[in-house]
Formats: sequence, C-alpha cells, structure tokens
Amino acid sequence: MDVAKLSSYPFLTQAAAHVAQMDSSIDDIITSKAYGMPRSRASSRVIQSILGAIEKDDTKPDVAELLSYPIARILVSCIDDAFLTRRYALAEAKFANTRMQKENDYGTLQEIGADFNINASISDKGFQIHFTDYIRGAAGMRALNWKLVNRRLKSGFVNITKEEYARLLQEGIRVRIFNSLPLAVPENFCHALEEYIVEIKTCLEHSKKELGEEGFGEMEPGSFPPCIKHLLASAQGGVNLAHSARFALTSFLLNIELSVEQIIQLFGVSPDFNEEMTRYQVEHIAGGTGTSYKPPSCSTMITYGNCMGKDVLCREIGHPLNYYRKKKQMVASETESIAVGEQSASSNEQSVPSKEPSSSNK
Ligand code: SF4
Repeated sequence: MDVAKLSSYPFLTQAAAHVAQMDSSIDDIITSKAYGMPRSRASSRVIQSILGAIEKDDTKPDVAELLSYPIARILVSCIDDAFLTRRYALAEAKFANTRMQKENDYGTLQEIGADFNINASISDKGFQIHFTDYIRGAAGMRALNWKLVNRRLKSGFVNITKEEYARLLQEGIRVRIFNSLPLAVPENFCHALEEYIVEIKTCLEHSKKELGEEGFGEMEPGSFPPCIKHLLASAQGGVNLAHSARFALTSFLLNIELSVEQIIQLFGVSPDFNEEMTRYQVEHIAGGTGTSYKPPSCSTMITYGNCMGKDVLCREIGHPLNYYRKKKQMVASETESIAVGEQSASSNEQSVPSKEPSSSNK
C-alpha cells in the first residue's frame, strides 16, 4: 500500500513498519517544531473520539495523517484513562469502517483482512470467509442477523456483503487498538505533549460529567448501586454489554424514569449500536408491547454475573431499586443535617455576646 492508503489504515502492521523506517526519530516527532501538524491532528483525533466520531481531515498531507495515529496513541497512553481508551479504540475503528465502506479496491480490503488473519476471497455479492473467521469476528455482535444459524453456509464458507465484511473488521480493529493500550511511554514524552494533554483532559472531564450527571436530569447517579454504576460506565465507554446486562441497565433506568431517548443516547457509543434495534429493545422493555419490566433482583444479578462492586449497603437490600431509594434517603438526610448544623452554627454566632464592653458597662 502507498502512504495515502496507509494513512487511511494506520493500525495495519504495514503502516507501523512504514513509520518505523522513516528518517525521523520518535523524539523528533514528539518535540520538533517540524512535526507540529501531526501532533495537532493527533490531538484532534483523540478529542473527536471523546466527542463522538473522528472526522476525516483532507487538509493534512498523507504523512502527517499517518504520523498522527501513533502520536494519538501516545497521548491516550499518557492520560491512561479506561473510559478514554475505550472511546478512542471504538472511534478509530468506526473511522476505519467509514473508509472501508467507501473503498472500491476489494484487494485493499482483502489485505486489511489478512492483517487480522482473515482469509477472504472476493465473491459476486462481496466476500466469502471461512465460518471460523466469521464466528471470531461476529462474536461481539448482538443483532440476530449476525448469528451463524441465520447465515447460509457452503462448504464451511459464509458469504457476506462488503459492508458486513467492513463491520467485522471494525470489531477486529477496535480490539487490536484497545488491547495494545496503554503503551509504556517515557515520562519526558508525556511532558513534551503537556499542552495537548491538558486540552484532552479538560474535554474528557467535561464529557464524563455530561454523561454521568447532567444527562440524568432529576436523577441522582451518585446514589446508583455499584452494579448499575459499573454497567453504565461500561456502556458509556463503548463496551458491548451482554443481553442480561443491557436488560438490567435499561430496566433500571426506565424504572427511575429516564426517558427512552436518554437511554438510546447512552447506548450510542456501543460498538454495534443500531439505533432502530436499540429503540425497539428499549421501547419493548418500557412496555411498548403491553408488558413493562422491572429490573432483576440482586439474586438474579448475581446469577448472571452482573452484581459487581457490592458495598456495605448492599447487605441490607435485595434489589438494586431499593438500594437507590435507600441511598437517596440517606443522602437527603445527611444534607438536611448538614444544613441544620450550619443554621444552628450561624444562629449561635449571632447569639454569642460581644466581647466588646457595652457602653453601659463603661
Ligand atoms: S448486591 Fe444488588 S445492588 Fe448491590 S451490587 Fe449486587 S446487584 Fe447491585
């Protein structure tokens, strides 16, 4: 592949080898003024991943675009935040998917597949891959049409469209990037990139706050039980939740009166997010077909491996909703007693006699 192609698929082994054999050292790329362009593009890659999606930047030369990828990985590693790492890996994978969808050269797509040990041959309708490669790629997909039983199998091979092939590769790219981070970055590199890191951290904190608190309106996410906090953080970080976990999270949020729209937004960063399908599932749990569902009890959560991070309050309750109610009450009464304490402190202040002698005592 030439540099233009490699800049579109910078996660490939071939792209890393190309960067490694360039004349410039990694120190130059991190510190020299000459590499300001790839550094700022790297920073925008990471910021865009936090905000939702990496956008194509046609204003940069191919080499700058190619170099921005390893620098972006260094930035993510310096920050070393699990939420950021998941968002970044997912956004890079989705960005690659959009380019693969537009790729007219099927040979390039075959080459990308080969880098992920997928041996694909070109067929009339797209590609043909061995069912073992198919299962490996589709393992994280929840939609029913990805199940092998819903596919036509011929002599051990599965026919898939170009779009499906790109989607399978997207998952492989996400896993590759996620598993390779954080890199062991020397302290002086992180120091040299400080200006970008500060900007990314500000954006990250803002985004976490928005997702974690402001998106909940009257809700009190600080009072959510540990299991729900864990599932929520995973969903917001782009983790593909198992069906039972999705159900537990969705039904909990619906029962504390989060709207269908707010919940769909939460799942929007999931790797196989499909708005139509998500809407159907959330509306179904909300009672769209006549039955509305309660979230599972603690014992069911334990059975499905969704009870995580149990704390002291968990010992007193048997249902995540009861945890939430009880914790809210505790927080409310704590706040009330602090307010009462402050009020009585201030009235005491007013009633403390002045040490100044009154005029009558003079
Ligand atoms: S005990 Fe219940 S509320 Fe606590 S973490 Fe487990 S499932 Fe959640």
